[in-house]
Amino acid sequence: MGLFRLILLGLVIWLLFRLYQRFIKGRSSQKQETRQIDGDMVRCKHCGIHIPESEAIKKDNDYYCSQAHLEDDTR
Ligand SMILES: [Zn+2]
Repeated sequence: MGLFRLILLGLVIWLLFRLYQRFIKGRSSQKQETRQIDGDMVRCKHCGIHIPESEAIKKDNDYYCSQAHLEDDTR
């Protein structure tokens, strides 16, 4: 049974190592994402909130945080 336990222990350590690697990878990719968003922040012309350009609604040269604010400002 000694060998079986040793294999089991090795398997557990390997699994923990894999989980740790995935955790580190997830953290680094999250960091890259926020850095990208930080680079493209725009200001809603209506309420002044800062939002990522990819989520903003563009109208001519102005940005809006939502369709409602775009309509409020152009009405
Ligand atoms: Zn707004």
